[in-house]
Order: sequence, then structure tokens, then C-alpha cells
Amino acid sequence: MSSRKVDLRSDTVTLPTDEMLEAIRHAELGDDVYGEDPTVNKLEEMAAKRFGKEAALLVTSGTQANLVSLMCNAQRGETVILEAESHIYWYELGGVSAIAGLLPWPVTSQRGALNPRDVENAVKPLDLHFSRPTLVCVENTHNRHSGTVITPEEVKAVKKVAEKHGLRLYMDGARIFNAAVALGVDVKSFGDCVDNLMFCLSKGLCCPVGSVLVGSSAFIQKARRARKLLGGGMRQAGIIAAAGIVALEKMVDRLKEDHENAKLLAAGLAKLNGVKVDPETVQSNIVCFRVDGVGARNEEEFMKELKARGVLVSSFGGGKLRMVTHYGIAKEDVEYAVAAVESAVQKTFGKNV
Ligand SMILES: *Cc1c(COP(=O)(O)O)cnc(C)c1O
Repeated sequence: MSSRKVDLRSDTVTLPTDEMLEAIRHAELGDDVYGEDPTVNKLEEMAAKRFGKEAALLVTSGTQANLVSLMCNAQRGETVILEAESHIYWYELGGVSAIAGLLPWPVTSQRGALNPRDVENAVKPLDLHFSRPTLVCVENTHNRHSGTVITPEEVKAVKKVAEKHGLRLYMDGARIFNAAVALGVDVKSFGDCVDNLMFCLSKGLCCPVGSVLVGSSAFIQKARRARKLLGGGMRQAGIIAAAGIVALEKMVDRLKEDHENAKLLAAGLAKLNGVKVDPETVQSNIVCFRVDGVGARNEEEFMKELKARGVLVSSFGGGKLRMVTHYGIAKEDVEYAVAAVESAVQKTFGKNV
């Protein structure tokens, strides 16, 4: 067993920085259900402004943000058009149907960016038989597509179709700051082309908890009720918001280091015999790779070999493995991880490669 630990499972494993802990310690607090927590109010104002929207709402998680948004953008029985590999469709326990009561209409795409023509084709006419489409969701960066970055132009093209058919457009922007940093654009350019969106504080931005929804005042007012309905009304939530404020001020620009490390990781893996990674898809902090001979049946075994070397990774299933770079990962960790993959490949599958 290795004493070194390189945890590449997710950027959610990041710990709050000392500055965050300090900010939490000194946060001015109040009861946020009464709207009286000044630190929460400050974070929400900052977030709204940052995205060029009227208002914002701090929620407990990205999943809750998505659920609240689904509930507030559409009525039960209506259709939501979403990307087939999206987080909402895969990883949120079917809340889109089970709680929001919507019919998810998955549309496949090349690299996570919905093709406007495919969206248009998915829009059902107003016919007695059809569930009414009211909402389109986009995801940015796109997790299951290896953290691909969707450009504002690509989102605008979808928005055009949505508008033409009177549909709303929502963005699951869990890692939207990664997208903005990767493209070198202001996050406002994403705020401008969707009706509302959410981002996570708890991923690459290092906060312990929290996501934020941004949108119009009317939407956020409605969202506040939905959040309460889901049990997400929090009291002295300023202890969460305090870390969020530090995140927005200090943790955004440094995401480029994570992207550099991801590129380094991808390049290192690509050089190994029997390892496949498409460097084209490595556009932010997520690296997906495959190992010859590793599939659905034995990926657990391979991941165990990596774990024995102190390297933790996650799986998308079927032998598609994922590594995520973050604040806790330095360049040396990347080099260590590449060496660990090489050694695990040789040990487990040496005879094949
Ligand atoms: C992580 C993630 C979420 C959900 O966030 P949680 O805080 O884990 O509930 C939603 N969408 C995407 C794309 C994510 O990566």
C-alpha cells in the first residue's frame, strides 16, 4: 500500500482554504429563511451581478439547484429537452420525473453541445397526444463528455431555437467557471444567453457546501419557495455563504492551474502503452481515459490496483475512467499518477500490452 494519496475522483474532495475557514469564523449571521442573513444576501448579490442577472439563491447542492429549476421552469407533465449524457438525466435519481413530474427528452450530441437542429427536431407540435415541451437544459462544462467546454455561441444557437418555440433555457453550470476560464471569457456571456443557471461552490471552487441559482427576480422568488418545499430553507447559512464569497473573489482565476494539470495528465497518459485518451476532449479539469483490456467486468480490479498505489479515480462505466484535477493536486501529483497508471497497467495487464 502506498502512503501517498492522490485523489483524482472529483473536485468535490477539495477542502475549504484557510481564508474560507477564517471568513466562516467571522461571518455576520442571521436567519436566512427570514431573509436576514447579511452574508447570504451579500453572496447572492455578488453572484447575480457576476452573471448579469437580477437575483440569486444559495441552495444546498447542485442537485437541489437543478431540481428547483426544473420545478420552476416547467409544469408537471411537460417535457424537458436535455442532453442524453447530462447530469440531470444520469445522476440525480430521476428527480426530474420523480419530484418535478417532467418528461425528460434526451437528445444525443457529439461532445456535449446540443445541436440546435436536433433540439428543433425534438420539439413536439401542440397536438392532443403530446406532452408540451417548455424547457431546454444545457450542461457546461459537460461532465460525462470529459469536461468539454460549450461556447457562448453554441449556447446562443440553442437559445435561438428555444425562443422560436417559446421554450425556456436553463444551464446546469456546475463547473461554469471552468468553462469561462478555459475560454477566457466573462461568465456574464453565459448569463446573457440563458434564462437561468446554477453553479457549484463545492467543486473546483473549494467550498465545503453549496450551489447558487441565478435568474430573474420573479424566477428566484419562485425558486425560494421551491427550495423551502424541498427542505432546503437554511437558517444561519452565512457560514456557507462566507466561504462562497471567498470562492468568487479568490478561487476562480486559479482554475487555469487545474486545466494545465489536466492537459499534463492527458499528455502523460496518452504516451503510455495500452492507454487511450483523446486530448481533444480535455478542455478543462476532467480527463477521461481507457485502458486496453479494461472494461465493465474488470474496471473495479484495475481501480483497486491504482488505489494500492495511492491513486483514486472514478468510473463512468464500461471501462471509461475519469480523473479530475483540483486545488489539492499539484504538478508532482500528476506525474505520480501517470507513473501509477503505467505500473498498474503493467501489473494487471502486462501480458496484453
Ligand atoms: C456535481 C454536478 C451536479 C450536482 O451537484 P451536487 O452538489 O453533487 O448535487 C450537477 N451537475 C453537474 C454537471 C455536476 O457535475
